[in-house]
Formats: sequence, C-alpha cells, structure tokens
Amino acid sequence: LSATPTFKFGKASSKVSTLRKDSSPMPRRPSSSPISVKYGVNTRDGSSAYLALSLSMVRASVHETALLGDSRLLSYTAVKCNPDPYVLRLLAALGTGFDCASHGEISQVLGVGGIDPSRIIFANPCKATSFIRQAAKMGVDMMTFDNADELYKIARVHPRAKLVIRILTDDSKSLCRLGLKFGAPLVAVPDLLAKAKELGLDVIGVSFHVGSGCYDPNAFSDAVMRARSAFDMGAEVGYKFNFLDVGGGFEDADFEDKAKVLSGAIERYFPSREGLRIIAEPGRFYVSAAFTLVANIIARRARGSSSDVITESSDSSQPSVMYYINDGVYGSFNCIMFDHQEVQPFVLTMGKSFDLERFAGTPVVPSSIWGPTCDSIDCVCPLTSLPPALEVGDYLGFRGMGAYTTCAASQFNGFQRSLVRYTSGIGPDSRAVRRALQLFAA
Ligand code: PLP
Repeated sequence: LSATPTFKFGKASSKVSTLRKDSSPMPRRPSSSPISVKYGVNTRDGSSAYLALSLSMVRASVHETALLGDSRLLSYTAVKCNPDPYVLRLLAALGTGFDCASHGEISQVLGVGGIDPSRIIFANPCKATSFIRQAAKMGVDMMTFDNADELYKIARVHPRAKLVIRILTDDSKSLCRLGLKFGAPLVAVPDLLAKAKELGLDVIGVSFHVGSGCYDPNAFSDAVMRARSAFDMGAEVGYKFNFLDVGGGFEDADFEDKAKVLSGAIERYFPSREGLRIIAEPGRFYVSAAFTLVANIIARRARGSSSDVITESSDSSQPSVMYYINDGVYGSFNCIMFDHQEVQPFVLTMGKSFDLERFAGTPVVPSSIWGPTCDSIDCVCPLTSLPPALEVGDYLGFRGMGAYTTCAASQFNGFQRSLVRYTSGIGPDSRAVRRALQLFAA
C-alpha cells in the first residue's frame, strides 16, 4: 500500500511540556439546551469508536444562517455532509430544505416524514437517468444541470422539472475544488439555455458552489456577479429566472465575513429582489462543531519498552510514543485525506479516570496517533502532545468531527464504522463529554 509519512521517531523530549487545560479551540457558538437525548452503551473494549452528537449545536447554526442577511434566504441543507437521521429530523423540524445528491438521499429525506418534495433540490448536475425518473415519481422537480446531455435525459424522463443551471465559479481559494468536476463556464451558458428552450424545458434560475472549505469570502461576490450574467443570458433566450442558489462553502470561522460579502453582492447585482427566491446549501457549517469523535486507544508503542521498535533519533521534537486508536483515515478520519482537515486530540480518560481537571498540568511528550488498519498511510495525527501515562483502553476525543466524516467512511480491513451516540450538551465544555462518556460506560 502507501508509503509511511516522512517523519522520524525520536527520544522523548527532555524538556517535558504539560497538558494545557483545554488545548483545542473553543467552538465559537455557545451550546444551548439539548433537543433530543438518547443514551447508548459503550463497551470499552475498543471494538468501536463513536461520534457524540450535540443537536443543540446544529440548531444554533441553523438559527445563525439568518446572518446571511435576508430572511428571504432559504436554507437547503446539504445532506451529503452528514445524513444522520437525528440531524435530518432536527433540520426538518426547523424548516430547512434539503440538497440531495442521489436517489438514496431523496428517499432518506422523504422518509423522515412531513417533508414536502418541494423542499428538496436534486443538486447533482450529472445524474443517472434512473435517478431522474425516480425523482419525477417522488415529486422532486427542482434539479441542477450543467451540460446538454443532462438536458436530453431530463426532457425524456422528467419534462416538467424545474431546472437550475449550475455555473462555474472561481474556486481556486477553496480546499475542495468542485469546479474541477461541475459547473458550466459562462461562455457555454447561452447555448445550454437555448438547448433547454428548444427541448421545452423550464429553467428557473442559477446555482453555484464556490468550493467547500472556501477561505476567501470574496469568492462569493465574484460568483454572484457571474450569476447575474447568467440571469441576463436567460432573459435573452426568453426565460424569466426567479431563483438563485448560492451553494455551500460556509464555515464557522469566517461565517460572518462571508455572509457580509454575500449579502453585499446580492444587493449590488440583484437590487430588485421582487419575486426572487434565494437559497443556500450549507453542509459543513451546520454539523461540523456538533460532533465529537471519541476513540479508544487500542495499542501503544513507546520508547523504552522491551518490544520497542521506534527508531533512535536525537530529534527531541519527534514522536516518542505511537498511539493506535480504533478509527482512522479509512473511517471517520477520511476527512484528513479528502477534506484536508487537520485534527487534534484531547484526553478524555487517563488510567480509567475521567477527571479532566486533574489532567491539566499532566506532563506530555511528542506523540503520534494512528488508525487501526494495517496501512501505514493510516495516520491520524503525525505529531501532537500527549501524556505518556495514557494506557491502552483510555479514550481520546476529537472535536469538530461532524462534516464529511462517518458518512464517507469505509470498512477497509474489516473495521466497523464508528457509531453515533446522541448526547445532551456536548458543546465547548469537555466536562459534558466526560459526563456522556460516564453514562455510556455505565
Ligand atoms: N451543495 C453542493 C452541490 C455540494 O456539492 C456541496 C458539497 O460538496 C455542498 C452544497 C455543501 O458544501 P459545504 O459543506 O462546503 O457547505
């Protein structure tokens, strides 16, 4: 398989640092009271890691989308990001719509109950014909396209669809560049719209996605400007667009900045909002902070043990203890590979103790964290600081594990996907995580 990441193992640092009270960044939003609480049993035998979900964090994010600047902006949650049934139920109850990528996601959303198919956009510009046919049967009319072949398929099996043309925008400032795969360049838009007209199809508006993990808020103003051009092209062909989909790409860290840029651009390029429906498709923003991954240390290799195989090195900044946990890059941590995420652990238990307060000030040494598979690319954290007193059986926590994690996990090497536990109030405070863990272990 793949080669080992290029870092060396060395002696434990002679200058031992200590564990900070809480070394992980605090989520920006305060946690509010829980919506749904469900406790499960955790076996403590290392057989399964789990993700602990605080629905209150999701709820807080949904309310915050109002910051996008306009109460007329509707939110269509990107299901692909985290299709957990409780998340979907909460979002449905809060009144969001849903951006679905497949027939499976549409079925799951409609399976929640009480969701009208008009609250779904089938936002995959390249769909299997059978999926388009199924969408027609289920009453899902709104769907995106970015090529002529898609128009032929839709004309054949779902001629009364409400179409949205996905345009290409500059996604060079995003970690996940969706434009490599989707989006019609503006030069192609007039011909595509003319073809749609010729086929008698109803195109209602324009969508874009600036890319997931977008770190430049200005990408939104550029995209809205392009959308304006596409609206004008639609008018030339004889369409009267009334729908703008600004996609996803929102994140906790700079949400306000993006919201400001976006609402400014909408005001500038769409000054007359009469009859215009605007939607966003946030994924990561809703769920990222709401999930904490709890993983069990299943093995450990440290310098000084008789079976030690860690290479000697004089570099004291390199890991001297290797911890192996029961989830890795083929599981929930696939976000490291696909999503360029960097994760940092916090200590949840030490020597069977849950006393996080006592852990503060514990000496730490440079350490690395590895997933459970036999593949050397399965490295969760190449360098971090952890107490060498951690034992097999102890738990590490990882915050911000709600977006594109377990939903994209494989069972490579025969390992189960991590389960989700529904807890109350796992927010910025790790005491809540500890409490939940106690309940699980009981
Ligand atoms: N909409 C579409 C069409 C997408 O493909 C994605 C992500 O891939 C999203 C929305 C959600 O993006 P994000 O999680 O960055 O908000």
